[in-house]
Amino acid sequence: MAQDRLSPDIQAGRLPASQYSENFDDLHEPLDRHEAVVEADRCYFCYDAPCMQACPTSIDIPLFIRQISTGNPNGAAKTIFDQNILGGMCARVCPTETLCEEVCVREVAEGKPVKIGQLQRFATDNFMETVDRHPYERAAPTGKSVAVVGAGPAGLSCAHALARRGHDVTIFEARQKPGGLNEHGIAAYKTTNGFAQEEVDFILGIGGITVKHGSALGRDITLGELASDHDAVFLGMGLPGVNDLGLEGDDADNCLDAVAYIERLRQTDDLSTLPVGRNIVVIGGGMTAIDVAVQTKLLGAETVTICYRRGPEQMNASQYEQDVAQTHGVTIRHWLQPQALQRNEAGEVTGITLEYTAMNGTLSGTGETVTLPADQVFKAIGQKPVEGLFGGVDLELARGRLVTDAYRKTSHAKIWAGGDCIEGGDDLTVVAVEDGKIAAASIHEALTG
Ligand SMILES: Cc1cc2nc3c(=O)[nH]c(=O)nc-3n(C[C@H](O)[C@H](O)[C@H](O)COP(=O)(O)OP(=O)(O)OC[C@H]3O[C@@H](n4cnc5c(N)ncnc54)[C@H](O)[C@@H]3O)c2cc1C
Ligand code: SF4
Repeated sequence: MAQDRLSPDIQAGRLPASQYSENFDDLHEPLDRHEAVVEADRCYFCYDAPCMQACPTSIDIPLFIRQISTGNPNGAAKTIFDQNILGGMCARVCPTETLCEEVCVREVAEGKPVKIGQLQRFATDNFMETVDRHPYERAAPTGKSVAVVGAGPAGLSCAHALARRGHDVTIFEARQKPGGLNEHGIAAYKTTNGFAQEEVDFILGIGGITVKHGSALGRDITLGELASDHDAVFLGMGLPGVNDLGLEGDDADNCLDAVAYIERLRQTDDLSTLPVGRNIVVIGGGMTAIDVAVQTKLLGAETVTICYRRGPEQMNASQYEQDVAQTHGVTIRHWLQPQALQRNEAGEVTGITLEYTAMNGTLSGTGETVTLPADQVFKAIGQKPVEGLFGGVDLELARGRLVTDAYRKTSHAKIWAGGDCIEGGDDLTVVAVEDGKIAAASIHEALTG
């Protein structure tokens, strides 16, 4: 009995079979046509609309909402795609509560913004479901070729914008499936029913883009080869590494990388086969922490506690994301930093000791501690670049990320970069899309004068 208590309780199939699809259903029911028109009618169609200024891809939000309210959802979708070819995914995953909807005049005046994200989803879904052709035609071939590393939001956005301008693009993707974190990282209830792959197919519908799967920079290809075989290179490989806690026992089988676990969850055909602990502790304060916490709860974990070393205002996850976690039964504890992993004789983690923290000019431990039982501990304290990818090619880096100028050009004359792998941006899907778009325009200018 004593041994039982000391062994982690990790099991698959904690829920009745029928519960999984219900738990992992869409977080928000999509709007139907009537609801969309009613919601669109709430928009004031502001001049110099603050929502549009807050959108990293500068979508003409009042225009597309007007198009919905006048019964032209496919025109609305075209307005969205003109600025953001991944407008369908961004409609699902953008933290609109800290972007367009935060500054919506209706939010400022009444605390109830126009549901811009939901309207964007209505328009883009309508287009992808009802229109059988790609919204853009390619320009005449330029004879130029561009290599793109990574088929995530940054790489796909860049590839599409280049192919549209008539360049030939080859995407080199390490995994067997394209989509980046849209396919492997975003919470399952934000993008259901294989939407990430549907969107990739939609993007590739422009033509002129070849995707080479299982082709990793630094393993199968070198940056030197790409730069000499192509007229330009775009690097969009994200941040494939994860930070460790730096504690003894970090490498135990039940002290897990949250992103890798979510990837497993996103790729499984049967959620009931996924082992999940009874008591879970998640270390971190961003979207990854929230996503792994909510999803382990939805898989049937009994207690899930997020521990974050600072206060609620400093969390990278928005207030809305924190509310989503709490309404799903996740406890968020602030001002706690990991101090030691408790382990049994077999080296398995059975709990975690955390030290209370306080701000005394800088963040420091108070010396007081608390120990929480844990059958699984998830590390969600940020991703990091993989080192040694560039062979002998010299690129300027800051904290391991690529330094680029305003046009997303690196310190190398033929190499651009965007998305999570560059220094200085917010790690968001929509920002990666914008980076790819800016880089494509700059590459086009460089290649065509
Ligand atoms: C768990 C989690 C949840 C998130 N939730 C949200 C959310 O709800 N909303 C939001 O806006 N953002 C969210 N984000 C952030 C968002 O997913 C990223 O900012 C975005 O995906 C970055 O796009 P990217 O193209 O730069 O990189 P990625 O999406 O990481 O794509 C990089 C691609 O490059 C490939 N690759 C990596 N290394 C190599 C190599 N050496 N050679 C070739 N290919 C390589 C990868 O396989 C991948 O396909 C989340 C992130 C995580 C980790
Ligand atoms: S700020 Fe709000 S009300 Fe004004 S245009 Fe944007 S969505 Fe409409």
